[in-house]
Amino acid sequence: MTFILPELPFSYNDLEPHFDAKTMEIHHSKHHAGYTNNLNNAIKGTSLEGESIESILKSSNLSSAVRNNAGGYFNHCLFWEILSPSPSPCSDEFMTIINKAFGSFDEMKETFSKAAASRFGSGWAWLCFNNGELSICSTPNQDNPLMESECGGTPILGLDVWEHSYYLHYQNRRADYINAFWNIINWSVVESKYRACL
Ligand code: MN
Repeated sequence: MTFILPELPFSYNDLEPHFDAKTMEIHHSKHHAGYTNNLNNAIKGTSLEGESIESILKSSNLSSAVRNNAGGYFNHCLFWEILSPSPSPCSDEFMTIINKAFGSFDEMKETFSKAAASRFGSGWAWLCFNNGELSICSTPNQDNPLMESECGGTPILGLDVWEHSYYLHYQNRRADYINAFWNIINWSVVESKYRACL
């Protein structure tokens, strides 16, 4: 069994003006495709071949090739899934859960945006289901909360803050890219990932 680059559920230009078509095309067809191929090569003939991506991420003592590419494969799969050109808003039920965890939706947004903005260099910001609670954190490189990392829990929302995800359109303005992200989040998918953790 090998991992396969998932098709995007929308076209490269569908997320404009928030995420531009050229960035989406390179991000999916070059970067994500690269992580996928490199992951398949890195696990070939090892005991990890045939394991699920979650099981690989949770394994200890991963080689850097497996860690980076398994993370890159999983993180981008999740990223495409939670984006939509016609995003569904946060439901009243999930809003109540967010309010309880963070005080308000705006406070959650602010904490998440700060985690994304303050990640030095390349990495990701995450909203996680962690021991029955919602939590926010950030990881470097292609790490994620399923691994032994700075975060814990199961990621239900993630934002890529590698420069390859925004530099063509936003150049050094990572904060503008983070702001744009909030316009294209499909909250029904985030909520279903939360419910799957219960
Ligand atoms: Mn990326």
